[in-house]
Amino acid sequence: MTSIDGTISMNECTSCGRRWQPPLPGCPMCGQPHVRPVSSATRGCIYSWVTVAKNLGNPKFPESHDVIAVDLDTGGRIFARYEGALGVRPGGRVWSPSAVPRDDGDYVFIDLSE
Ligand SMILES: [Zn+2]
Repeated sequence: MTSIDGTISMNECTSCGRRWQPPLPGCPMCGQPHVRPVSSATRGCIYSWVTVAKNLGNPKFPESHDVIAVDLDTGGRIFARYEGALGVRPGGRVWSPSAVPRDDGDYVFIDLSE
């Protein structure tokens, strides 16, 4: 558990400055292979999402769940599991109570008001 002012480890492109998570071999924007680790806020806004309706038998995932793309307040986009109570909505304010992924590899975000 972290405070609402905690940080999440991200990758940052040393050429264009784009930040992202999860790790990739190079920058998703410019393709430059040189990246460095940086910290970013645990708060942000929902940019987009998908609802996974069927888990295809993988026991580590619930039968139905939402995966969100979050634009973090201090820069960077992260893909994570949404487990908030208000329901996914565009621009919804969310934060991650844990600055590290869970054992299943997913970051979890909830509504900022929770
Ligand atoms: Zn780049």
